[in-house]
Amino acid sequence: MSTPVFRFAPSPNGFLHLGHALSALINFDMARAAGGRFLLRVEDIDRTRCRPHFEAAIYQDLAWLGITWEEPVRRQSEHFDDYRAAVRRLQADGLVYPSFETRAEIARLVAAREMQAAWPRDPDDAPLYPGNAKTMPSLKREWHLQSGAPYALRLDTEAAKCRAGLLAWTEDGSGPGGERGTVAAAPEIWGDVVLARKDTPTSYHLSVVLDDAVQGVTQVVRGQDLFWATGMHRLLQRLLGLSEPRYHHHRLILDADGRKLSKSTRATGLRELRSQGITPADIRRTIGLA
Ligand code: GLU
Repeated sequence: MSTPVFRFAPSPNGFLHLGHALSALINFDMARAAGGRFLLRVEDIDRTRCRPHFEAAIYQDLAWLGITWEEPVRRQSEHFDDYRAAVRRLQADGLVYPSFETRAEIARLVAAREMQAAWPRDPDDAPLYPGNAKTMPSLKREWHLQSGAPYALRLDTEAAKCRAGLLAWTEDGSGPGGERGTVAAAPEIWGDVVLARKDTPTSYHLSVVLDDAVQGVTQVVRGQDLFWATGMHRLLQRLLGLSEPRYHHHRLILDADGRKLSKSTRATGLRELRSQGITPADIRRTIGLA
């Protein structure tokens, strides 16, 4: 059997908290128990929110927890050309279209549709794309493109799903409703997702599947908040001919109100806890790891 490859993939847009510690330690422990490799990937595609000092803090906090990783670390911002090439492939397959609306226009469109009936939302509670850029007459589309108007590139999820056929993934952990084993992918619950944003030539969904494949990741172990994203990831993997890892979604650490921890809540930040004299062993105990 080939060596299993695990990864922890934080975004440097804030300081790590107990939820990150849980994910990083589960990955690291599983990699060690399986005699596998453990990789660290910095998901810094959002150039407006990611900061070098947050990245430096990731390395410090993980090292403090006793985690070691392979070098070099893959930083997504160094691979924009790879993501562009993948989007071009999907474009050549006729599965991508430009959309020109601003955020405010999209919000207005959603509000208008909600006057008629409830408008569908994705698992993150964001409204699905309400626009009709997909059916925009080609002359009008050309005119927009020629005028230099900024645009996002979206996946035509319906067409993509037809092209890909039935999809599933192997879940070794569990979904929010206890799903495990073979789980059917439902990428349509995300609507026509953005593949390349106006301000950056990629998106979370696109870069994560490409990187997992490029890095030879065989086991994606991450929080249950990303469970439903896996359906979209399976779709992109099939369209791009990428390898299919196994998935393991783990429990989340919630705050006193039952909400997912946020990077801005200092009470659960690893650096704050460290400065209070808390040890890595205390952290393990607090998050329920032996
Ligand atoms: N970068 C993502 C996050 O910080 C994790 C991506 C993944 O594990 O697939 O939530």
